[in-house]
Amino acid sequence: MNKQNKSGLYNCPECDNAIQTDKVIKIGTIIECAACGTESEFMAVYPPKLVPLEEEK
Ligand SMILES: [Zn+2]
Repeated sequence: MNKQNKSGLYNCPECDNAIQTDKVIKIGTIIECAACGTESEFMAVYPPKLVPLEEEK
């Protein structure tokens, strides 16, 4: 089976909420989870790997 994220759905690494985006996904693309507000950066595209951004305080 060739499963691709053509729908633009990804899972938040923090809360596992499904994040939908129509952004072009590439390494470094940042998307924000609507449920918990975490911004995550793509460290890999295929398979997609999202890493939450740490905010400096
Ligand atoms: Zn989340």
